[in-house]
Parts: sequence; structure tokens; C-alpha cells
Amino acid sequence: MATYSRLPVSFARGAGAWLWDSAGNKYLDALSGIAVCGLGHAHPAVSEAICAQAGELVHTSNLYGIDIQSALGERLAHIAGMDKVFFGNSGAEANEAALKLARLYGHNKGIEVPTVVVTEGSFHGRTIATLTATGNRKVQAGFEPLVQGFVRVPWNDIEALEKVAANNPSIVAVLVEPVQGEGGIRIPDAAYLSGIRALCDQNDWLMILDEIQTGMCRTGKWFAYQHATDATPDVMTLAKALGNGVPIGACLARGKAAGVFEPGKHGSTFGGNPLACRAAQAVIDTLERENLAARAAQLGERMLAGFTTRLGATAGVVEIRGLGLMLAIELDRPCSELMQQALQKGLLINVTAERVVRLLPPLVLSDDEADAIVDGVFELITSFLSTE
Ligand SMILES: *Cc1c(COP(=O)(O)O)cnc(C)c1O
Repeated sequence: MATYSRLPVSFARGAGAWLWDSAGNKYLDALSGIAVCGLGHAHPAVSEAICAQAGELVHTSNLYGIDIQSALGERLAHIAGMDKVFFGNSGAEANEAALKLARLYGHNKGIEVPTVVVTEGSFHGRTIATLTATGNRKVQAGFEPLVQGFVRVPWNDIEALEKVAANNPSIVAVLVEPVQGEGGIRIPDAAYLSGIRALCDQNDWLMILDEIQTGMCRTGKWFAYQHATDATPDVMTLAKALGNGVPIGACLARGKAAGVFEPGKHGSTFGGNPLACRAAQAVIDTLERENLAARAAQLGERMLAGFTTRLGATAGVVEIRGLGLMLAIELDRPCSELMQQALQKGLLINVTAERVVRLLPPLVLSDDEADAIVDGVFELITSFLSTE
């Protein structure tokens, strides 16, 4: 179906930060399949894990125990500071699980219309509930009626949240991204997440962080909430980089949120199957072994400094921002044609929120590859801004 407007290229193979198209042309990937292939393409540890598991067992269903799923759950919970994990197959499903958990939490407290606070500019997925949670009319248009039980507040605005708290006794949770991804790599004030944490504690709400894009070392820490003090969520969702391309999503919960789901309340046929869990185990092993959180932080600083030096004073560049390897150059005009122009130069980049050049390169970049991305993007943007 025509759900995508695709760029005119198709890739045949990849290795590390590089992709080759069917004609043999080579591309430097500064997008990682939208923050999915954090370990780059065809990482040997992940490929070997997939091959080995495919030869042993791919799927049995959640009617039975799945040892590798339990092991992955325990490991992920430990790293994330959570207690329990539900596995699905995508980001939207992980958020659906979180929203169902929040509603059940509310109903268990006697709240009849449990309401979740969401923010402007957010992205949470394309299912009916998650597109309702998403703060972007383009994602919602045509799919009304939207789902009940959401209120929206401005992003990065604690006062707005306090106002809502005073006026709405039906609120059960706040759902936010610690850094808005699709919304344009928007990094909140340092106190924003801890402010949400404090409000959630005062009001007995669940703090739900959508770390689907920010998680798994992308921002220079395992999870973006770890950049803030006292911002551990009650519920956290993961997907994208968790399987380095093998579909897997997870909804993690701790404390009072961890025991909300009972048998029969949620489920997934594919969720947490041995193949996906084995891939995710290999991803975690590799992130840990190669200390890629620290490496992402280092590379991010290098690239941010490179862009700031070279584009910081350029007319037409509104702002350059980044956290780890989530990098953005915001221009003063729409610039989606830059994606095609970059492709012609053998570089894969993204434009989001119309005017924001977004880079989400793999965490396994060499310094030279990082510099090549900075050079390429610098040239593209300067020539774009001078010919407009
Ligand atoms: C990509 C993304 C989603 C949706 O994930 P899918 O796997 O496409 O369903 C949700 N939230 C955030 C923050 C994302 O970046």
C-alpha cells in the first residue's frame, strides 16, 4: 500500500555504518534505519545470535515458558532499574501496553475515566491509541474518532502540568519522551523530568517514559532518563534499537506499576519469542562489552562541536542541538529535499518536523566516519542555504 513516500534507492547489504545499493553504490548511514541499527548493519555478534537461534528454536508462544525471554527480561530490568517486563514486537505495541497498564492502574484505584497526560510535539506510534497520544495533527488527521482519556499539555512546561494536576482528578499517568525524536530532537530543560517525577509522586500518577528512540545507549547513557537526577520512571517503553533490526518492543515497570497486569490482561502471540530475545541479548552484550554508551557520548560531543564550529554562525541555521548521537540542525525553512540531495552524495540523513535535519548514526562509528558525516552535512546545508 502507498503508506510511504520512499526515496529512490534500495539496499542490498550493509556492514557497520555502510550500506550498498543493488547497483553496488556505497552510502554512509547517519540514520541507522531510524535509530534501530545502533550497532550498525550486519553486526557479527547479532548475526551469529540470529543464525544460532534460528537453528534451535524460533517460536513456541507464550502458552509456555520461554527461558531466554525470562533471562532477557531480568537483565533488561536490572539495567533499567525496573522490576518487570512485557515483550511485544514494536514501539507502538510497547506504548499500548503502557497505556493499558496505566488505565488498569486507574481503574484499580476506582477512577472511572483514567486519563493520561501527553505533550505537544510528541510521537508515540501509529495505532489508534498511540496516534491519539501523539502530539501531531498530521498523524491523527483522517483517523477520528480518536481515543478518549488523554489530555495534552505544552512540552517542557512543568507549570502546565501543575495546572492540569489541580483541575483533573482522573489523571493516572504522564507519558513523555525524555528527548522528543520525531518532534525534532527537542531536549527539555534539565529539571523537566525530575519535575514530572515529583508531580507524579505527589499525585500518585505513573510516570511513563517513551524511550523507544532514546534508549539502548543512543544518548550516551543506557536510557535518557539517566541524564537527569531523580527521574526514574514507573513505566518505560523500548523498541527500535533493542533488537538491532529484529522486531522487538518492551514495556518495563517497577514498584506499584510492576504488579498491575495479571494473567489474561494483556498478551501477544509473537511477543518475546526466542529469536527476538536472542538478538536482544546479543545487542545488550555488545553494548556492554564495547562500552558503547560512553562511546556514543564521546562521538556525540565530537559531532556537535564540529557542527557548532562550522554552522553555528551560518544565516539560516536556527539551532544546533544534540544529546549523544541524537543530533539536530534546525533550519529556518522547510528542507526535506536535503534527504534526496544527501542520498545522491552517498549519505543517509533524515529531515523531521519539516525544518530539522536529524542524525541518528550507529554507535559503532569510527572517528573518521563521524567526521565524514559532519563534512557531508555541512556541505549539503551550506549549499542548500546559499541556493534558496
Ligand atoms: C519510533 C517510535 C515509536 C513507534 O515505534 P514503532 O516501532 O514504529 O511502532 C514510538 N515512540 C517513539 C518515541 C518512537 O521514536
